[in-house]
Amino acid sequence: MSQIPDASTEQRTIIVGAGLAGLACAFELADQGRPVLVLEAAPYVGGRTANWNENGMDVESGFHKFIGYYSLLPELLERAGIDLNEMLFWEKSMETRHPEAEEAGIFGLDVIRAPLKTALGALGNNKYLTPADKASLIPFFTAGFKDYLSNPEELDEIPLQTYAKRHHVTDQALERILEPLSSGIFFLPPDQYSSYAFFGLFAPGIPRLHKMRIGAFSGGMTDVMSQPLADAIERLGGTVRTSAPVRELMIEEGAVTGVILENGEHLEAAHVVVAANIRRAQMLLAEPFRDVSWFAPFFELEAMPHVTAQFELPEPLLPQDRTTFGPGTSLGSFGEQSRTTFRSKSGRTSIILVDPDTLVDLPEEEVWRRTVDGLKAIGLDGVDQTTDYRIIRGDENFYRLSAGSEKKRPKQITPIPGLFLAGDYTKQPFLATMEGAVISGQRAARGILKNEST
Ligand SMILES: Cc1cc2nc3c(=O)[nH]c(=O)nc-3n(C[C@H](O)[C@H](O)[C@H](O)COP(=O)(O)OP(=O)(O)OC[C@H]3O[C@@H](n4cnc5c(N)ncnc54)[C@H](O)[C@@H]3O)c2cc1C
Repeated sequence: MSQIPDASTEQRTIIVGAGLAGLACAFELADQGRPVLVLEAAPYVGGRTANWNENGMDVESGFHKFIGYYSLLPELLERAGIDLNEMLFWEKSMETRHPEAEEAGIFGLDVIRAPLKTALGALGNNKYLTPADKASLIPFFTAGFKDYLSNPEELDEIPLQTYAKRHHVTDQALERILEPLSSGIFFLPPDQYSSYAFFGLFAPGIPRLHKMRIGAFSGGMTDVMSQPLADAIERLGGTVRTSAPVRELMIEEGAVTGVILENGEHLEAAHVVVAANIRRAQMLLAEPFRDVSWFAPFFELEAMPHVTAQFELPEPLLPQDRTTFGPGTSLGSFGEQSRTTFRSKSGRTSIILVDPDTLVDLPEEEVWRRTVDGLKAIGLDGVDQTTDYRIIRGDENFYRLSAGSEKKRPKQITPIPGLFLAGDYTKQPFLATMEGAVISGQRAARGILKNEST
């Protein structure tokens, strides 16, 4: 356990949660010379960007990709002294495998460095998607990006499948292209997935098309990103405590004045940033603020589960470490990682499974059986060689990216004196992503600094 900073507890900010949102907030405040104390419930930092050992096997919170058009996350990491070129491997292409497709679809990813391959990927792949299927997507994307800019609230009320039908997307294009780009990324099937979330994920990339690359982590995320970021906060004078779960907020005369840990410790602060995952944040805030109308929509914002399968083999399952989608199966997105993230393993695959609502409570053996069935359906019989697997899942972390959620996301600045929120579920344009988490943390930090100066 690290020591509590010398700076007056009256001036410090306590940040509950050491995911990217909490760490980003702490870094910004510490960088401005403010005393910060980060309290993390888990024995390691990173939250959803973490790796750890689960009963003898090295695992991660889930298959993660760093999108080239993120800007605030890379900027933060660089300021913290983390070399992105060491932290990431840039992928050159991604793959889509459908059980009934004659061939896999291969899509180039690097507009600047491999423009021809990228263009051919978008225009070619005729055995994966017919020209008519591709043509049906053009009016859909055109209308969608327009509605994203002009009618975001309305767009958020429409499930992706309904919006696609309205714009005459063919069934095959829906299943083979839109499903991977929705369920493959945020797990929910297209009949639930918000159209705003669909276009919102890609819209920020349009003006930065030249940055459209996908990076795989070159090690476990705690090891190569979250812990180095926590170390940078400590170098700036902040403190990061792990295995320090917060039980409740301290409240005096309507203001938040500190926190009480599970072990009974009382810690005072000028500001408290709740940077816990959505369900945990709702639990901390429900008791004291149940009757405050500002919080009412947030308390209605639902969480959604996520389910991942991670396994080791004597040799790689796939010929390349690259993002692969499995539409038409229970496999959302997945990838071989033995050449990138888990290089000490001879074969290692990580998969995000689709429709987590139906999987989250199933026994591990059943989730694994469905994973194996999905892999075999797309020709990856090598899964039979698996030597060990883990099912890593949770039901408290993500806000539900279904139609109608946007209007319930709270802002980072609350009406309660001393209380700020951070976390990917809070209102910011990058949805439930690492970039979104960083934006939320930085906004909370700005709110605190502004508060101090008034
Ligand atoms: C399987 C999976 C795949 C993903 N893929 C991608 C991807 O490819 N690209 C991308 O950009 N994003 C991806 N994400 C999303 C990304 O990881 C999140 O958006 C981001 O990490 C959220 O950060 P956060 O700080 O808001 O929340 P979290 O990382 O959830 O952090 C919250 C922290 O609060 C702590 N906490 C909770 N309650 C308490 C308490 N009472 N006291 C103390 N601490 C507490 C938790 O332990 C946790 O560490 C993925 C996530 C998952 C799970």
